[in-house]
Amino acid sequence: MAAAYKRILLKLSGEALMGDDAFGINREVVGRIVAEIGEISRLGVQVGVVIGGGNIFRGMAGAASGMDRATADYMGMLATVMNAMALSDAMRLQGINSRVQSALVMDQVVEPYIRGKAIRYLDDGKVVIFAAGTGNPFFTTDTAAALRGSEIGAEIVLKATKVDGIYTADPKKDASASRYQRLSFDEAISRNLQVMDATAFALCRDQRLPVNVFSIFKPDALKRVICGEDEGTLVYC
Ligand code: UDP
Repeated sequence: MAAAYKRILLKLSGEALMGDDAFGINREVVGRIVAEIGEISRLGVQVGVVIGGGNIFRGMAGAASGMDRATADYMGMLATVMNAMALSDAMRLQGINSRVQSALVMDQVVEPYIRGKAIRYLDDGKVVIFAAGTGNPFFTTDTAAALRGSEIGAEIVLKATKVDGIYTADPKKDASASRYQRLSFDEAISRNLQVMDATAFALCRDQRLPVNVFSIFKPDALKRVICGEDEGTLVYC
C-alpha cells in the first residue's frame, strides 16, 4: 500500500496508552501502538507525535478538586513527558528511531523543542515525539497537535481516539447513529460536532490543516488512514 501523505502529525490521547486499565501506561498497548507507528514510518511517512497526559493527570480534574488551575495544568504537561518517554522507549525496543522534544525545558531528561531540529529529525526518518503540550497552562494537547502540525508543515493531523470517527449522535446511546465519512470545518461548526477543542479546531481551520479522527484501538486503522482509505472521519477545509 502506498502512503497518501509525506508528513503527518499524530495526536495520541493519554488514554490511548492505558488500554483497559484505570490509569497509567499499559506497556503491551503502548507496544502495539508503536508497532503501527513503525509500520507507517517504514512506508516513508514522516511522523510527528503529540502525546496527551489524561491517563496520568488532567489539569481540569486538579482544578475541580480545588487546586490552582495553572499549577494543575503544569502537572498535566509533566504527565505528557512521562508518556513521551514511555513511547520513545517502546520505539527503541522495536528498533524505531525517535526523539522526544519538550515544550518545557528539562535538560537532563529530554531535548527542548526546537522547530528546525524537529524538522531535520523528520527528514532523517526519525519519529519526533512532542511532549509538554504547548508549554502553557489553559491549553490542551489537541491545541499542541494543531500548533506543532502547523509548524512542521504536516499535511494532516490524525486524531487517534477511542471511537472510529465522528458520528451523527453518540453511537453508545443511539443505535441509529451513523459515521460521517467526510465533513467540512464549516459543517462541523454548523452541526455543533465536537472534533477537538475549540482552540485546536480554530487553528486547524485557519491553517487549512485537515484532521482525520479515527480509532487507535482498531487494528490497522492508522495505516488505512495513511493510505487515504475510508477510515474514521476526515474533516477538510
Ligand atoms: N496541558 C496544558 N497545556 C498544554 C497541553 C496540556 O496545560 O498545552 C495540560 C492540561 O492540564 C491537560 C493535561 O496537560 O489536561 C493533559 O493533556 P490533555 O488533557 O490534552 O491530554 P489527553 O486528553 O490527550 O490525554
